Amino acid sequence: MRPTGRLHLGHYHGVLKNWLTLQHEYECFFFVADWHALTTHYDEPELVNEYALDMVIDWLAAGINPGQSTLFVQSRVPEHAELHLLLSMMTPLSWLERVPSYKDQQESLKERDLATYGFLGYPLLQSADILAYRAGQVPVGADQEAHIEITREVARRFNHIYGREPNFEKKAEQGIAKMGRKQGNLYKKLRKSYLETGDLDALETARALLQEQQNITLGDQERLLGYLEGTGRVILPEPNALLTPVAKMPGLDGQKMSKSLNNTIALRDETDVIADKIRRMPTDPARIRRTDPGEPDRCPVWNFHQVYSDKRTREWVCEGCTTAGIGCLECKAPVIDAVEAEVAPIRLRANELAANPDEVSNIIAEGCEKAGDEAAETLRDVRDAMGLGW
Ligand code: SF4
Repeated sequence: MRPTGRLHLGHYHGVLKNWLTLQHEYECFFFVADWHALTTHYDEPELVNEYALDMVIDWLAAGINPGQSTLFVQSRVPEHAELHLLLSMMTPLSWLERVPSYKDQQESLKERDLATYGFLGYPLLQSADILAYRAGQVPVGADQEAHIEITREVARRFNHIYGREPNFEKKAEQGIAKMGRKQGNLYKKLRKSYLETGDLDALETARALLQEQQNITLGDQERLLGYLEGTGRVILPEPNALLTPVAKMPGLDGQKMSKSLNNTIALRDETDVIADKIRRMPTDPARIRRTDPGEPDRCPVWNFHQVYSDKRTREWVCEGCTTAGIGCLECKAPVIDAVEAEVAPIRLRANELAANPDEVSNIIAEGCEKAGDEAAETLRDVRDAMGLGW
């Protein structure tokens, strides 16, 4: 997670609740992506550090258990940077240019100059973040799947170039000879194109061509696939995307909850602040007077009921709203109670942690050390494979 400072309900329902479940099911690594923050906000360094600490406090307060998971800060594990550099040597530029969010983000953050080397390379930095731990699963939303895909491609290419076994080429040449001259030459051309330019269409075509070969045994086909994709030796395993359910937790105005839109409820908001924010929430514009009936589907408060209220309360809202039987303040009361009930224990714990910053710093330091040990092992293999094993 990028350091964004104090977290709000959007983070809690969109990410943290999912992490709380995952930490019981997997060995998890959660990190503050401070280098990623600099890829877009490189001119605001003063925020990064302060935001990072506040964010980790909120993770812990929400229930992330440092005894179960590893919590660390990206910039304190320099192996991420080294792996990013080493992977950059063999990653085709075209792979980064075609990541959908590259152009989208440049468009949506128009006020920033994002024509930088670092911004173009951020998907590769993400790949390094994942591959440094040889991660099996990466929890992402559907919009992030492209980043996992590029990581898989980078790992495959790395293994292909650096993971070959002795005599691998010779054995593969023997297999190609069985394809017949024309087909064999086509296969070699496609493979060359994939290797030299990272052309994924060529990879797909070559794979299909192989599967059509009836006179090649399955064993030889396997070998040739390995030859094509570089699975001779797996140094960096390909991770899988662990698709997380999309959480519907819109902001106070019905748009996406976001600090920049000023429509958030923070996990550390005080009781009266929460009540005040919810009381001021806009409602169905058709309900000008208390006697005007409304339509919950046009009201941001209804979104909150869908997250927080049971069936009975939701029925009470629908009935009361559409018949003007209840007023909007009345309708908001159960939401205020439910949000307060959810946030109160988190706020209490966060305030305790904020009063003990040394405790949080120690947790981060321990996490950084553990993450560093894991990443160092991967880097040893990567350096060796790339001829840097001094
Ligand atoms: Fe919205 Fe409730 Fe008012 Fe209907 S009664 S407009 S759902 S706040």
